[in-house]
Amino acid sequence: MTERPISDRLCEEIQSEFPDFAVRPKAGDALSRAIDGALRVVTLGAQDRYLTEYFTVLGATLYTPPGWDSMGDRERAVLLRHERVHLRQRRRLGRLGMAAVYLIPFLPLGLAYGRARLEWEAYEETLRATAELLGPGAARDPALRERIVGRFLGPDYGWMWPFRRQVERWFDAALGRIEAEGTAGRAEDLPKCRR
Ligand SMILES: [Zn+2]
Repeated sequence: MTERPISDRLCEEIQSEFPDFAVRPKAGDALSRAIDGALRVVTLGAQDRYLTEYFTVLGATLYTPPGWDSMGDRERAVLLRHERVHLRQRRRLGRLGMAAVYLIPFLPLGLAYGRARLEWEAYEETLRATAELLGPGAARDPALRERIVGRFLGPDYGWMWPFRRQVERWFDAALGRIEAEGTAGRAEDLPKCRR
């Protein structure tokens, strides 16, 4: 019997939790194009990869850049785990609450603490999913640490929380918690959809 891809099963799990969940390409999507234009304006052109590199949940839809099609199964699953956190945040905060925390603090750029905390919660899940699906070594890779920390410091999310030391402390504390939880056998628990 062939195993179904982990990301397909996870996608179904997300759909059973959020029935209107859908995955759509950013390319050719008018709303995504409008957001891309606005981001280029507010970041003075520094964030010009919204359409080509970033995954974005708007409502219950995950909008994907072109790289989605060539991503490996486990990498896709890690990404879906991050985005599921945002879907749960939206349920917790409500659509307007989420928009208020996420979008309004975009101005002033650089001090968006509410958004930084929501993103941090999602990146902690990225880290946990990486440890479980790609192995503890992948979660400990300094390149991953730098990439995630950089997301907070740089223009990607409008200089969301530009305090390197603090973001590094969040990262190291989260990695410590995840390693303490242990990941042995977790991958075995994954095929929940098969029950
Ligand atoms: Zn996110």
